[in-house]
Amino acid sequence: MTEMPDGRLFIGGEWEWGSGAEITSIYPADGSVNLVLKGASRADGERAIASAITAQADPAWRGLKSHERARILHRIAGGIEANAARIAHIQTRDTGKTLRETGALAASAAGTFRYVAAALETLDDALTSQRGDYLTMSVHDPIGLVAAITPWNSPIASDAQKVAPALAAGNAVLLKPASWSPLVALELARIIEEAGLPKGLFSVLPGAGREIGNLLVEHPAIGKVSFTGGTETGRMLARQAAEKLMPVSLELGGKSPTIVFEDADTDLAIAGILYGVFSSTGQSCIAGARLFVQQSIYDSFVARLVTATRALRLGDPFDPETQVAPMVHPDHRASVAAMVDRAVAEGARVLCGGAAPTGGLFDKGAYYLPTILAGVTNAASICRDEVFGPVLAVLPFRDEADVIAQGNDNAYGLAAGIWTRNFPKAWRVARALQTGTVWINTYKQFSASTPFGGEKDAGLGREKGREGIRAYMAQKSLYVDLTGKPHPWARWPQGGA
Ligand code: NAD
Repeated sequence: MTEMPDGRLFIGGEWEWGSGAEITSIYPADGSVNLVLKGASRADGERAIASAITAQADPAWRGLKSHERARILHRIAGGIEANAARIAHIQTRDTGKTLRETGALAASAAGTFRYVAAALETLDDALTSQRGDYLTMSVHDPIGLVAAITPWNSPIASDAQKVAPALAAGNAVLLKPASWSPLVALELARIIEEAGLPKGLFSVLPGAGREIGNLLVEHPAIGKVSFTGGTETGRMLARQAAEKLMPVSLELGGKSPTIVFEDADTDLAIAGILYGVFSSTGQSCIAGARLFVQQSIYDSFVARLVTATRALRLGDPFDPETQVAPMVHPDHRASVAAMVDRAVAEGARVLCGGAAPTGGLFDKGAYYLPTILAGVTNAASICRDEVFGPVLAVLPFRDEADVIAQGNDNAYGLAAGIWTRNFPKAWRVARALQTGTVWINTYKQFSASTPFGGEKDAGLGREKGREGIRAYMAQKSLYVDLTGKPHPWARWPQGGA
């Protein structure tokens, strides 16, 4: 049995008991308590910020050459790999996600640190084209202090996605994980400490968004906030950031369309759609939650999809056969159930699911059946609002133009999926959809080298890729005189003492 962290927070390089409000981490498969810890208070946060200011001013990190910083990032990756089983176990207990998935998230986090380390070593500053008797260069400095605020749904992976590039750029980082999943970020702190990152550069501050999150956004010493979470929280945070004229990157919600054309390989499509919306029990920003099926194949395709959905295996997150695990928290399940009930009250037909399963372990855990709803239009609330649970709305469409219009008719623009054997058509539709990512004949694949982010209400900015490191740097232009002569405009008598 893997031991849980002891509940101390990592504040300015010291392991200390928090002095903020109590946080209870539960195992949502049976409601048992993993750990009760005290979160970070404002005073804890202010101490972490003070340590970060001192540590970041010291050239021990910001003054290192890129390849030297990369060495530490590789060590962090190695630490994650060496502790992957423990990290996966803790995260499964903390979030209820299957062990298979949390293992993949740990591997992805290690991969992010390795990719960022490699990319950092090869990020060149630029000599810009010369337009006068001076040399011009574009170079990059650290921003200083970066706050990373993350949600509960994929903690180790979303933490790494921010912490790796922000440290790589030479910054100090203050990480605030969500209160439903505080544990794995503390494991990451232990690994980062053991990898030899200079003290004070990294802190982990679990705690309430309104208290510790607010402090991080408003504090004058914080130079950038990188946020992943809900759209309304992101909007509020962007307003606060505007007061300080501080850059923010926002990875927010989604209501992603997936599109099946009549010429699609339907086996491929069904597998992709099931994975896209029901893996992670639908608690995924990029969940393909609106499915558009071309009219000519609608009935047969939806019938097969429903059969395949009913065959999904719900169960114990530690069982390797489990596909659909519990939701993160009973409160979240209640909000998902309420959204399904509202859809039904508004006229949706339940093709499968639509309730919590009962009997055995289901009576204790925060489970909800994979649910498919039909009989709604794209204007229905279930097609507008993010559910963040295992709920799929299916709708028919006529032709390419119709599905592009319906796909884009939504406040979000995070991702989309297209299934067709006709590549030129896939290309046209992919280019016409106003989303940050489009998958063609696949879904929910990720790569550390490929930028990720949203359009419209789904966010601002991109993470990942080489530019994902630049996002944590301040660009600076340097002009160097090549003449050795005073500027002619000045015209004062020269050569005197
Ligand atoms: P949330 O917005 O409630 O919380 C996210 C984080 O923000 C948490 O750490 C929370 O404590 C903090 N927070 C809350 N109020 C704050 C405030 N006033 N100031 C500063 N910080 C504050 O979101 P959640 O419920 O944890 O996560 C689910 C949401 O995250 C969904 O909408 C989902 O789509 C989104 N998400 C987006 C992506 C993406 O990459 N686009 C990835 C995962 C999740």
